[in-house]
Amino acid sequence: MTHASSDFARFVSLEEAQAAVRSALPQPATEWVAPEAAFGRRLAQALPAQVAHPSATESSLDGIAAREADTLAAAAGSPVTLQVVGESRAGEPYAGEVNAGECVRIYTGAPLPPGTDAICPVEQLEFASDGGSVRLLTPARPQDVRHFGDDFAPGDELLPAGARLTPARVALAVAGGHDRLPVLRRWRVALLSTGDEVRAPGTALKPGEVYDSNRYGLHGLLLECGAEVLDLGHAPDDVDELAARLSAVGGADLLLTSGGVSMGRYDFMRDLLIERGEVTFWKIRLRPGGPTLLGRWNGLSVLGLPGNPVSSLVVFELLVRPALTGQGLRVTRLRAGAPFGTAGQKTAFWRGELRGSEVVPYPKQSSGVLRSLSDARVLVRVGPGQPVAAGDEVEVLWLD
Ligand code: AMP
Ligand code: MG
Repeated sequence: MTHASSDFARFVSLEEAQAAVRSALPQPATEWVAPEAAFGRRLAQALPAQVAHPSATESSLDGIAAREADTLAAAAGSPVTLQVVGESRAGEPYAGEVNAGECVRIYTGAPLPPGTDAICPVEQLEFASDGGSVRLLTPARPQDVRHFGDDFAPGDELLPAGARLTPARVALAVAGGHDRLPVLRRWRVALLSTGDEVRAPGTALKPGEVYDSNRYGLHGLLLECGAEVLDLGHAPDDVDELAARLSAVGGADLLLTSGGVSMGRYDFMRDLLIERGEVTFWKIRLRPGGPTLLGRWNGLSVLGLPGNPVSSLVVFELLVRPALTGQGLRVTRLRAGAPFGTAGQKTAFWRGELRGSEVVPYPKQSSGVLRSLSDARVLVRVGPGQPVAAGDEVEVLWLD
């Protein structure tokens, strides 16, 4: 095949590439799931409380409910005696009114009867043997009453749209009256690694061959982002075979490929998309990960990641994770403990290690050094023409 790819360049900035990958995904759809299926998902819309919690003004202790004013004089040496006129249990409130000089036995979570406003805990009570009266060794406390709607009232926003549903948040939603939760549909992402030298784990490796580590690293990253993964396995460097594999992809929101998008003669993913598909961008002013290609194949969005292991995983962090999760990059600032160089006109993301509270470069920065990613804690952003000196503050992206 002749290819014009060497003079084809739709070079973009990192920000343009991020926006393009975001818009390569369809509009996020909502699905309603049972609470036990919602863990780890993202809320598609804000969730209002449908009920109040507590649903009544109730006791937070086991003891008696009384009128505070009746009990103010109570002390260990001079107890106050009240008549016990009944009891209020969780699920079975006391029906009548409680008058001056009276109280009811009450248990945690039981509604306060009308007339009462304070609780005296069981540890501070001495009941008469017939149960008809009780001596209080301390005053009853209004602080031990939980008021209707203290936690939330109907209509209060429990959770904002986009919230990730942790166990505590699912519990909150259920407490607020929800038996189905609106969550964003999981992205379906197909994954294909390419390269004649790429071998499945568990097979023998000849010199020059490499195990298909990218497919596993990318698979894990996709799962971390809550995506459904369609693992398409591996394809050789053969343009017709690649075309057939891409055409067979069904039902995916995005196809991620590894390898075959750089400047080499056998980088056929690039040729395929440039010559027979559509290209949104090819190459980002970025290192590592510069040769990344975004395009379309028969309506399927395809993001071609470079095969270099570090490049593919770094580009995932910079472009794919933000698009799938709808969250910006997790950037913070650290002090550099050593200089970081620039990557010419490109934005660099060097692998960094922590030394105390400072960040220093991982000693080997080549895109082929897989250990640099698994050992590194952060990616250090260095803008074009902005070298970092020891002692400067740098922007870092946390990897863990
Ligand atoms: P490419 O982007 O196809 O030019 O590949 C660049 C480098 O990444 C080469 O050294 C490949 O052997 C290596 N590589 C390509 N695909 C994978 C993969 N799936 N897992 C690990 N390394 C790979
Ligand atoms: Mg290759």
